[in-house]
Amino acid sequence: MSSVKKVWNSFCREIEKLNSDTATIEELFTAITRWLSNNKKSFPEDIWSIYKLDFYTELDVREYYLGVSEDSVSLLIERLRKITPHSVDRVAMIVRDVLWDCSTFKTHIQCPNCKDDDLRIMVNEIDNKIVLACDICLWAQFEDGKQVRGQKKLRPAKKFEIDVCPVRTSHR
Ligand SMILES: [Zn+2]
Repeated sequence: MSSVKKVWNSFCREIEKLNSDTATIEELFTAITRWLSNNKKSFPEDIWSIYKLDFYTELDVREYYLGVSEDSVSLLIERLRKITPHSVDRVAMIVRDVLWDCSTFKTHIQCPNCKDDDLRIMVNEIDNKIVLACDICLWAQFEDGKQVRGQKKLRPAKKFEIDVCPVRTSHR
């Protein structure tokens, strides 16, 4: 068996341990990050760092509003099981995308630039300002709608940052 197949099978076995009908997003997130930590050696160091996987394995789930774009955790698990990645790089990307989707808070504000997705509440680590950003076209704006120009280093906003954010709308 190729190494990518081994890695992916091991990932799928881990998420299949969850009861997909009752599993919460916290349980899914924790299962994935635990699997990542236990399988760090399966990923080349540069891949691990490009996808900032340490950020997720060190993340405290209590500090974030976790959510998924899919209708339910079971649909997400079902979709993941159907994927056949052809490289370890791709595995890292798929796993990162799921963890990113879970840990970022999605508003009901449509991206004014591409209109293809709703904006997510992020924090620009350079100046600690709240930024609303689009995953699809990378548009970023301040809460008043003005476009963010210049350097950005975005991370998902934490509960305490979102709670004081006026644009916060009902949680997805
Ligand atoms: Zn957009």
